[in-house]
Amino acid sequence: MSPIEPNIPLFDHSKRRDGTFESADFTFYKECDRYICPGCAILKPKHRNFATPRPDVDADGFILYRASKLECDVCALKPKCCPVTPMRKIMR
Ligand code: SF4
Repeated sequence: MSPIEPNIPLFDHSKRRDGTFESADFTFYKECDRYICPGCAILKPKHRNFATPRPDVDADGFILYRASKLECDVCALKPKCCPVTPMRKIMR
């Protein structure tokens, strides 16, 4: 028994119930701050440079990694990855 017992159960929200790829199916490469999806595309916080720089980290301390819509549009794995959204996103 650990000395500190949580009073609130912790839920793992990274699992998906609709059979689509889970976050664990994407590989994170810390050295370049990128995810690689099962279709070998890159997910990153930004896909273009903004005139006014924007932070990658939101107010809650999360970073949203996005795939390219152009790549997801033509990907054969899209029905198994992001069937109802234009591109796949992963929160970290
Ligand atoms: S739909 Fe997009 S993110 Fe998903 S596997 Fe294909 S290219 Fe990768």
